[in-house]
Amino acid sequence: MGVLTVGRPLSWEEALPHLRYVRDHGVLQFINHYRKYEHITKDALYYGDEIEYGLFALSAGGVALSLRGAAVRATLNARELEERRAIPESGKVTWHPEYGSWMVESTPAVPYSGFTDDLRRVETNMRSRRARLLAALEDGEVAPTMVVFPLLGCDPPPAPGPAANSRLVPDAVINPHPRFGALTANIRARRGSNVDVRSPVFRDEKTAVGDIAMDAMAFGMGCCCLQVTFQCRDVDESRHVYDQLAVLAPVMLALTAACPILKGLLSDHDVRWNVIEQSVDCRTPAERSEPGADAAGDDRMANRGVKPVGSSRYSGVKSYMSARGTAARYNDVDVEVDPWAFEQLTSNGVDALLARHVAHLFVRDPLVLFEGMVEELDDAVATDHFENLQSTNWNSVRWKPPPAGKNEAKIGWRVELRTMEVQLTDFENAAFTVFCVLVLRVLLSFDLNIYMPMSKVHENMKAAHARDAATTGQFWWRSHLVRPGGAACPAAGGNGDVDGDSVEKMSCAEILGGKGGYYPGLVPLVLVYLDSIGCDPGTAERVKVYVDLILGRATGELKTAARYARDFVATHPAYARDSVVSPAIARDLVKRCHDVGVGAVAAPELLGDHAVAPIVKEDAYNVQLSRVHFASDVGLCVLLSSYAERARLVQKRKDVARAVAGQKARLAELEDELKAIDAILEPAAAGLAKVSSLGRMRADSETISVALSDGNSDGEQAAPDAPAAPKPASPPTPPL
Ligand code: ADP
Ligand code: MG
Ligand code: MG
Ligand code: MG
Repeated sequence: MGVLTVGRPLSWEEALPHLRYVRDHGVLQFINHYRKYEHITKDALYYGDEIEYGLFALSAGGVALSLRGAAVRATLNARELEERRAIPESGKVTWHPEYGSWMVESTPAVPYSGFTDDLRRVETNMRSRRARLLAALEDGEVAPTMVVFPLLGCDPPPAPGPAANSRLVPDAVINPHPRFGALTANIRARRGSNVDVRSPVFRDEKTAVGDIAMDAMAFGMGCCCLQVTFQCRDVDESRHVYDQLAVLAPVMLALTAACPILKGLLSDHDVRWNVIEQSVDCRTPAERSEPGADAAGDDRMANRGVKPVGSSRYSGVKSYMSARGTAARYNDVDVEVDPWAFEQLTSNGVDALLARHVAHLFVRDPLVLFEGMVEELDDAVATDHFENLQSTNWNSVRWKPPPAGKNEAKIGWRVELRTMEVQLTDFENAAFTVFCVLVLRVLLSFDLNIYMPMSKVHENMKAAHARDAATTGQFWWRSHLVRPGGAACPAAGGNGDVDGDSVEKMSCAEILGGKGGYYPGLVPLVLVYLDSIGCDPGTAERVKVYVDLILGRATGELKTAARYARDFVATHPAYARDSVVSPAIARDLVKRCHDVGVGAVAAPELLGDHAVAPIVKEDAYNVQLSRVHFASDVGLCVLLSSYAERARLVQKRKDVARAVAGQKARLAELEDELKAIDAILEPAAAGLAKVSSLGRMRADSETISVALSDGNSDGEQAAPDAPAAPKPASPPTPPL
């Protein structure tokens, strides 16, 4: 999760006098940076995913968090470094810290590129990452890609810690890097209380509890997700892509649903999003529009900390920003902006749509400042203050300007899709990653758009939370895909038609597969796109397998990870139909998720026909063809002579085998001769009943030899020369 900085983080009290400086200079830094990179273009498509993992310790009786994220990450990064030291471009993974001290995040060491071949690299790379993670675990540890640890908060600490002040989780669950503790404490301090996270419980026959109540950031930021970042050609394309991903985000959330358990209870929601929103909600009571909230505020905070702000800093996208002419008409949601920031941006040549996006980031305060890193920074080159706000505005899509510093000018304008929930297997994680890449290529290549009023996107975000939304949910969607600003298709079905802008409710299956004769569906479009670019057959086949998986999730033919976990709990012998996921059930579920992830247990209800080839730690790292130095000549001689002996034996074996074959052939000849003699001596035994007398046999000896070679010529069977060779077994099935 985002930017790490060295140094001592300031407490909220210490930070308060500097907040305005950081906000103001964050805006100025953005303006400088924007002007510098406004015109850069990067024709090559690059994209990369992020996968988050939880580390858990299994024992016979249960499962617990394993708070070894930092240690495991250090081991993993050291091993990557070792690999890269030998061959610089050889590393496969970058390991990142995450909020929870039991978590790690992985990305490919280099992003994937825009060749079709790379679509197949995604899963291979993800599998390597999992194998490497396995290799860094201790006995009894597992690292499944589950969204949440099902028992988080079930084992209350003896006393609340200073950072989270939680009655449910100790501060030890927070990543030990000082930024994370400060973030946790400062969110609480700004808000004026602990965060208050509620999720509806799934009501079963004997459920006796109300809402699931949680009181710490870890309940949200401890959730694992799958994110994908795309590099765009230029700033204009990045703004268009941002808008399209904003619409796609809720549907991808529903399709990847994988979070049905919170704090040891079955939730009535299938996804994590709403929990994270609440878990980092730093708004003051006045900003949350609570009745009777203090209206005086504090001059040092953004908008004095009293102006209502409609959402948490973790939330869905609020406004479209494409400059292509159509975005503005879909912006029907109020967006709070910092007036000073908006004014600065627009008076420095940033257009109103983009200014609105950026000025919205600045209605929040920076949460963590580091000592010596405030007024000391040079706004002409640094972007730290902008990044401070940017990296703690956690939205469904993030628009990422080119980074400053070491990768300056190497990386272009990027956009990140942030809603997807992590899947149990890399097959699924790759399928969703590849699908998103291809949907974007379709939209860009065919110049289509999926715009709808932003208020409808927000409704979709809510709808994505419902149980089984992937199969039973209804989502607003465009009836027609039209070119931005292009002519309207004839309206068919749908409602609210404005210049061909009709939107209607569709299921995920319809959004993916098409509806009626008027909406083609994303999956057919993807397949048409692959055809039209002449995709190589191997990759096209793989993509078909991926889209079938995703369609299967939508039609209900396959389960989402959420449904899979719900059914696992419901059918567990220890489940008492009371919504409680006991330690025993949680243990078995975690183990199952791990086993499915590494291909040790099949999960056809989740994956269909696809079998995950086992992932084992032994295959984690490449073995180098390196130079070897023997400690002593004796050792080398012993090894050499053992191989010389082996070579001698190999040769000897060949000679013996040849001799055996020769002897066998001679034996076969002798046996034939024997049979021929027997046939003369004992014609009945040889099936030659007609030959009844020795004299006649002698006279007919010529005929007999013909009969032997053509035994069926007179309707009699000749004895076979040798026993029939055993029928060869059918060849073994090649491994998948
Ligand atoms: P963050 O946590 O800020 O979203 P990460 O560094 O964890 O960022 O992940 C960024 C993702 O973007 C990685 O998968 C990485 O491979 C990918 N990426 C890196 N460079 C580019 C690029 N030029 N274009 C697109 N994606 C990139
Ligand atoms: Mg992350
Ligand atoms: Mg990341
Ligand atoms: Mg990210």
